[in-house]
Amino acid sequence: MTETPMLGFIGLGNMGLPMASRMLAAGHKLVAFDLRREACDALAAQGAEIATSPRAVADRAKTVFLSLPTPQVVRAVIEGQHQAEGLIGAASIKVLVDLSTTGASITKALAQQVQAVGIRYVDSPVSGGVNGAVKGTLAVMCACARTDYESLEALLSVFGKAFHVGETPGLGQSMKLANNMLSATAMAASAEAIAFGVKQGLDPMVMAEVINVSTGANTAIRDKFPKAIIPRLFNFGFASGLMNKDVQLCLQEAQACGVPMAVGSAVGAIWNETVEQLGAESDFTEVAKIIETKAGVVIEVKTPSSKE
Ligand code: NAD
Repeated sequence: MTETPMLGFIGLGNMGLPMASRMLAAGHKLVAFDLRREACDALAAQGAEIATSPRAVADRAKTVFLSLPTPQVVRAVIEGQHQAEGLIGAASIKVLVDLSTTGASITKALAQQVQAVGIRYVDSPVSGGVNGAVKGTLAVMCACARTDYESLEALLSVFGKAFHVGETPGLGQSMKLANNMLSATAMAASAEAIAFGVKQGLDPMVMAEVINVSTGANTAIRDKFPKAIIPRLFNFGFASGLMNKDVQLCLQEAQACGVPMAVGSAVGAIWNETVEQLGAESDFTEVAKIIETKAGVVIEVKTPSSKE
């Protein structure tokens, strides 16, 4: 009988923890690490082994997944502060699957560095939010050699629907940034449109119902407004700082390749303002508060007394 191979997982945050949980639930063996003890404890309770560092994960597992917040953190974990700490040079690692959103430039550089020491690099950002990570309905945007994609496809399908978007690492990131620019635009533009309607006297929940079957339909109005903004929960599980990172990365990379983004720049300014005023840790649905304050409205269900 062949032994079940040990997989590695580094970064057990809003996305990483539910994704790693799904790996365990699918019967895979996992060794994991996060700087936060509580996240490690939560995964250990589901059967994962917890390592003492990213390097220790890559000393045990041949395939290692990363779900880390920023390009800087991904680079630091791969390279290590000292030679003895990074994933490069670890005893077992042969395939590195980066599920984080980092942008194409750094991904291309890291892929070269990692491939130079014989580790295969799979650029594989995801979309679909915490709910998608929990349910296994993420879009997984893989850019790597087709043969690597084929050998990983079954594993990636634990997270959701996998797509092979290209042969070169970086293309997954470009795919993801294009998506998140649209998602960020939908959030900001929908907040403006709903604030306008509320100021005119409309109920935002009624507006969402109508827009959802009209030509303005989008994921912000479908999910974020009814579930997190109108009920004033602001708990969608994606930090404003991370959304802003994605928007600014997209703007930088679009500028570098000569694609104008006038709408994107306006959206970027709104996300910068959100992070400045509400903090990088605020939930990204709180962008609506920035628009509300300027409009002098609150996007909430109308109480009977406030209805005409
Ligand atoms: P998060 O901030 O919730 O989680 C990141 C985790 O990484 C944290 O648990 C943190 O402790 C850990 N971490 C940070 N530095 C570390 C280090 N040096 N070693 C080990 N662990 C470390 O972020 P998230 O929302 O889970 O997002 C993860 C990635 O996925 C980001 O790149 C994000 O842009 C992307 N993403 C997020 C969502 C979402 O809806 N939250 C959706 C799609 C993609």
